[in-house]
Amino acid sequence: MATAMLSGRIALVTGAGSGIGRAVCQVLAREGAAVAAVDINQTSAEKTVGDLQPITSSPNCHHPFAADVSDSKVVEDLVGMVKKRYEGVPSILVNAAGITRDNFLLKLDEKSFDEVIKVNLKGTYLMTKAIAQLMVENSQPGSIVNIASIVGKVGNIGQANYAASKSGVEGLTKTVAKEMGRYGIRCNSVLPGFIDTPMTEAVPEKVIDNMRKMIPAGRTGKPEEVAEACLFLASDRSSYITGISLEVAGGLFM
Ligand code: NAD
Repeated sequence: MATAMLSGRIALVTGAGSGIGRAVCQVLAREGAAVAAVDINQTSAEKTVGDLQPITSSPNCHHPFAADVSDSKVVEDLVGMVKKRYEGVPSILVNAAGITRDNFLLKLDEKSFDEVIKVNLKGTYLMTKAIAQLMVENSQPGSIVNIASIVGKVGNIGQANYAASKSGVEGLTKTVAKEMGRYGIRCNSVLPGFIDTPMTEAVPEKVIDNMRKMIPAGRTGKPEEVAEACLFLASDRSSYITGISLEVAGGLFM
């Protein structure tokens, strides 16, 4: 039997209660990592952890944490709880927490702009800084994977706030990769295309049909397909890869 890729590793995943974040937790746990599943929604984080494959070979286990990644005080408390709960520090961080507040630019109010930037961009910054600091203090090499979006590369009608936040995540990622390389910490972005999750459930069928015609793969993606790309970037299989944006979009906007 092949050995698990992430045995003995601790992985912190945000947005763990749904869609892509939940699938990332499942894939990382399957490969032997102890998963700290963080979501603003405690019940959904608990549900994710309840369904994970248990680990038998480590004193660490999977645990749900309720936290708003966009609040610096909450993030500070979260790091304290993770330190208490686990033997060792996370060597993997996957930032998957994200929201949309779509509208056309001329109708896009300031609140919707600020909310999206606060969760998607500031939240990714706060978590990345906090966990990178923990890694450096403990001489722990690691891998940070930020879920950005293909929309950050090309823009999207009705998503000025979201596209700006995701372009920002790519800029943040490349800078973290440059600064943290000397500590053995890699940082990469994953750019999903159109993935079947609760986030895209509200999109009208007609829009999805039109989108599908533009996707060379001829279909929308599954959260597990994004999660497998995250696993690759989180694991040592990608040991010489940092600062990249990996598109998981079935060829959409390549
Ligand atoms: P989702 O809505 O299914 O899951 C997002 C999760 O993030 C939810 O569980 C939510 O409770 C959590 N969350 C929201 N705000 C939070 C906060 N402040 N603190 C902590 N947790 C918070 O969405 P998804 O489709 O799984 O999206 C995951 C990531 O992938 C997001 O960053 C999203 O922007 C990105 N993405 C999704 C798609 C897609 O097509 N679904 C495409 C490109 C990028």
